[in-house]
Amino acid sequence: MRRVSVFGATGSIGQNTLDLIARRPDDFNVVALSGGANVALLAEQAKALRAEYAIVAREDLLGDLRAALAGSAVKPVAGRSALLEAAAIPVDWAMSSVVGFAGLEISLAIARNSKTLALANKESLVCGGALLSKVCQDNGTCLLPVDSEHSAIFQCIGGAGKEVERIILTASGGPFLHADPKALERATPEQAMAHPNWDMGQRISIDSASMFNKAMEVLETHALFDVSPEQIEVIIHPQSIIHSMVGFTDGAIMAHLGPADMRGPIGFALNWPDRVDLPLERLDFGALGALSFQHPDPAQFPALELASQTMQMGGLAGAVFNAAKEAALDLFLDRRIGFLDMARVVRYVLAQTDVSGSDTLNIKDVIDADAIARVRAGEAAQKGF
Ligand code: NDP
Ligand code: MG
Repeated sequence: MRRVSVFGATGSIGQNTLDLIARRPDDFNVVALSGGANVALLAEQAKALRAEYAIVAREDLLGDLRAALAGSAVKPVAGRSALLEAAAIPVDWAMSSVVGFAGLEISLAIARNSKTLALANKESLVCGGALLSKVCQDNGTCLLPVDSEHSAIFQCIGGAGKEVERIILTASGGPFLHADPKALERATPEQAMAHPNWDMGQRISIDSASMFNKAMEVLETHALFDVSPEQIEVIIHPQSIIHSMVGFTDGAIMAHLGPADMRGPIGFALNWPDRVDLPLERLDFGALGALSFQHPDPAQFPALELASQTMQMGGLAGAVFNAAKEAALDLFLDRRIGFLDMARVVRYVLAQTDVSGSDTLNIKDVIDADAIARVRAGEAAQKGF
């Protein structure tokens, strides 16, 4: 039996992870499951999987969690420090799938104490990539990417190293691929949430519509794989069948194909280095007909250019980029700024923030960079950008 934990169990990635774990009760011993605020679902999951601990991030919800778990053997705990303590319990495999910057310290705690870190939380790599890689290296922890593109790249690269020439990230183009840029100024959160291919959490769905998600994935690729910014390309592929590609020095390209179902990359990380039967639809190429591609229009998707700028800045610019993007998304969800203003806020914050003196291996510097960028994003919204 492998001991496993899932942080962010009540979210989209977390529920898909538990779906796979629940299908093989004899193989897994569930140690800890965490949620942010959804106590009812967390308690239901923890009881069904006989978890040792259920952790709710909001401290004020401890009473509710206790009541929901009454009569079961699951131990209820609450609050940020309890969550970080649970992430430090050694296990064979742990999923880091809390959304946002809040996931970084959870990933670090897992990396310090457990054998395998399955990483869905892309913010961990964008904000603290150098630190997380070092912690994994120092502790001999295996880091397996769960983001579908990065799982695809990992699988395509296999054992190759220097012979990788370029990495081609595919992007669906989201719900606004054919939208008139003028109409985008007025786009609402509800319209931005409606992703054509993937069923995901609210924040990543909106990030997909603005391509901020792809911009994050470019930064994630740069942190994970040994390639320069110039070796990373983005291509729009509206069908989301090819999950990414790797080009080699001999001109060959390996592509990873599969249905748009996150249980594919999660299952790959759960079973690596083995491949097991997964409950995914099988592709029918005759029914698919054609796969198409187009270059992204930089004017329509300014987030991609901002990612290039972030890589050029180096240091903790990724943490600044992510914090500005998270703050801009909150402003958009509160209807205080428009859809296209999110890129304007991030551009403003990057221009105002100097990261040259920061230490990428120091968590305090990462947290400071994040906090300063959020203040600047608020300023941008107040003063105009
Ligand atoms: P969801 O919004 O669906 O779920 C987020 C999870 O994090 C929930 O369990 C939520 O708890 C919990 N949470 C939220 N805020 C906090 C907090 N401050 N402290 C602790 N827990 C918190 O997100 P997704 O599952 O879509 O995404 C999770 C991560 O995976 C993100 O980093 C995303 O970018 C990445 N990812 C997601 C993909 C997808 O298909 N969904 C694909 C690739 C990457 P609760 O709901 O109980 O409040
Ligand atoms: Mg992705």
